[in-house]
Amino acid sequence: MSTVFSGFAEAFAEPVRQDMGRYFARAAGPGTGPWRIEEFGERSPGFGHDDLIACLQRLLTGQEADGAFTELSELMTRACVRNVPFPIVVHELAFLRDRLTRLAVEEGNLDAIGAIIVFFDELKDMLARIYLGSFLGALGHRNNVRLRHIAALAEKNLLVHFEKHLDWLKQLTQAVSARDGEAMPEAHHERCEFGKWLHGEGASLVRDQSHHAHLVDMHAAMHRVVDEIADMMGHQRDSLPLYALMKKAENYSLDIGNEIAMLNSMVIMTHYNKDPMTGGLTRRSLERVMINQLEISKATETPFCLLMCDVDHFKQINDNHGHTAGDRAIVRFADVLRGNLRQADLLFRFGGDEFLIMLPSTGYAQGLEVAGKLRSAVAGLRMETEHGNFEMRASFGLLEVSGSKTAFIDSELVNNLIKECDQRLYLAKHRGRNQVA
Ligand code: GH3
Ligand code: MG
Repeated sequence: MSTVFSGFAEAFAEPVRQDMGRYFARAAGPGTGPWRIEEFGERSPGFGHDDLIACLQRLLTGQEADGAFTELSELMTRACVRNVPFPIVVHELAFLRDRLTRLAVEEGNLDAIGAIIVFFDELKDMLARIYLGSFLGALGHRNNVRLRHIAALAEKNLLVHFEKHLDWLKQLTQAVSARDGEAMPEAHHERCEFGKWLHGEGASLVRDQSHHAHLVDMHAAMHRVVDEIADMMGHQRDSLPLYALMKKAENYSLDIGNEIAMLNSMVIMTHYNKDPMTGGLTRRSLERVMINQLEISKATETPFCLLMCDVDHFKQINDNHGHTAGDRAIVRFADVLRGNLRQADLLFRFGGDEFLIMLPSTGYAQGLEVAGKLRSAVAGLRMETEHGNFEMRASFGLLEVSGSKTAFIDSELVNNLIKECDQRLYLAKHRGRNQVA
């Protein structure tokens, strides 16, 4: 514990402490906001400005100071668990410190000004240490949950690289918790297997050059955090920067996880069995791919979308223009869908004139945009045959799926999701076709 807080009562001369208590009572009274923590307090009862003020009040008046320390620790742990970012706490403390200092300046109380600065510096330091400890504990737990979901995949393919990065973050978390510079994970992105893959096979898989460059940069930046942390570790007052760096490492690991999952989808689209007529993935691999997608969604805490697509009044096309023209229309339909999708989106031929698209790392709003684009691209098609021309229309059913909201991932869940998405498609048909529901 820092010097001031290990012997708070002795740290400041009694008159100075009394002055600080007096300033504090004036500075922290009702209506002295704006207190940012209040907003979080409303969302998480039992944590907020009032709790912090009550603890500090007791510290400064020297009443039950020991109990106040314990309560402050609990307060920080709660803040961390409830995702109140530490900078918000810092903001609150800085606001208080400035008010106290101003009151001391008004009275020309130089001793109190010095004491206030020392007090708040050390307080921030102590709270940051507690917050970092809780954050590392929670991060270790989250990371293990993510690892479990990736470990559960039937086929990992490229996701072994995500798994290795989760192990990497686990090692980093443990090294920082123990403040052990020797236990740090790999710092060089070129030495990591994924880095090697990016420069080899990956370079030919990712057709878009700028996307490839972005992946390399992001991966390099993630590994670089190790050096940044090593530089910082062991410095006095390292908790706040370490917290920021670990938060950065976690965000990178999730972003990289999402990117690896997308690359994995590209591999699936390239290597898996396809329907010879349309080049769509077959229904046989649908369940396996979808279960994997659900586990990935859980591990990366990112939703994906299912989009069921079906040609409108396709029977009439067969009846009016013949089965061969019908076949060609289905092939064109698949081509137009594929042409308007990302490389990582998964297109399945679900049956006849019906296709199912999986859009990895995609929320509902973005899915709706994609569906709208596909709908108008199909509606703009013009098919020419010996027996006359015709136009095509299609209907779409969109469903957002969030792995984190599902308890069990099994074939029953897959069937239910498909059924739900099919009902959306049915709704689009029922409402007059050529639309998204
Ligand atoms: P809706 O707007 O309700 O979808 O009407 P629809 O006429 O398109 O109805 P539905 O989707 O149920 O019709 C599918 C038809 O597609 C039935 C089947 O005869 C035909 N079909 C299925 N597979 C093929 C195929 O590979 N080629 C051709 N030409 N027709 C197919
Ligand atoms: Mg149809």
